[in-house]
Amino acid sequence: MKLFTSTAALALATIVGMATPAHAQGKLNVVTSTEDLASIARAVGGDRVTVESIARGYQDPHFVEAKPSFILKLQKADLLIVVGRELEIGWLPPLIQQSRNAKVQVGGSGYLDASTHVRILELPTGQLTRAMGDVHPQGNPHYWLDPENGKIIAKDVSEKFSQMRPNDRAYFQQQLATFTNKVAQGEQRWAAAMTPYKGTKVVTYHRSFPNFAERFGLEVVGYVEPKPGIPPTPQHTLEVISAIKQQDVKVVLVEPYFDLKTPNSIGRATGAQVLVMPPSVGGVKEVTDYVALFDYDINLLVNAFKKAGVQAK
Ligand SMILES: [Zn+2]
Repeated sequence: MKLFTSTAALALATIVGMATPAHAQGKLNVVTSTEDLASIARAVGGDRVTVESIARGYQDPHFVEAKPSFILKLQKADLLIVVGRELEIGWLPPLIQQSRNAKVQVGGSGYLDASTHVRILELPTGQLTRAMGDVHPQGNPHYWLDPENGKIIAKDVSEKFSQMRPNDRAYFQQQLATFTNKVAQGEQRWAAAMTPYKGTKVVTYHRSFPNFAERFGLEVVGYVEPKPGIPPTPQHTLEVISAIKQQDVKVVLVEPYFDLKTPNSIGRATGAQVLVMPPSVGGVKEVTDYVALFDYDINLLVNAFKKAGVQAK
């Protein structure tokens, strides 16, 4: 009897399996919060996924205007991939909730937080709080700006895709290997370009670049914002000007979505170059994917350092 049952179950499984072959499942419908995650998901997913980002790379990822069309995207999504660490807390939770899609709710089968296994910097030592407006209460959420973290994100995304489409596991692993190799080749290029400028001091507008600075040997000595998410104040700007003069900083990096008024006044007061540097794919039109982001930013930096007469080592 037992034998009969298992044989029947096997037969049924075979029939069910035949009725829904893998290629009939359709592409995984993936939505990401940012274009950086979309680029990585496209690389890993290849032709087995469709990927759309909610935020554009030229927008401040902390503050994205919620549109009804985003809810429609989330309604149809099989999988939502987020940066996490509260980067999207100001705009994404209501969209997720209003989508009424059980899969993409926090903790749902189609929800992936890309920050789980990456290296997070600036972890708070005290109480977790957004008091005083600091928008980085769970450590620095701009961690994708270290290509080593990009590889880790890709691995997590590949694993998630494979869980959702077990028949395509080998394909996703191959795609992951191709992406990882492309990043590794980039890392050799980027290290070669940046090593001569190891230890160069910069100021940035927002705390977007600690992972980037750590990886490529820059020293960030100040920020145009007094705290992440808090606009510049006259008093703080004077302190930044003083630090730039004292430490002979030649370059001020500004993300594309910030007003240039204060950075330009700092530049006039100190002679430092103000450089608009995208922290995301899509931040400027030339940056079309994750590898191109580092190629673009590092080329921009090296040219600025040369122009400013920073001594290469
Ligand atoms: Zn931030």
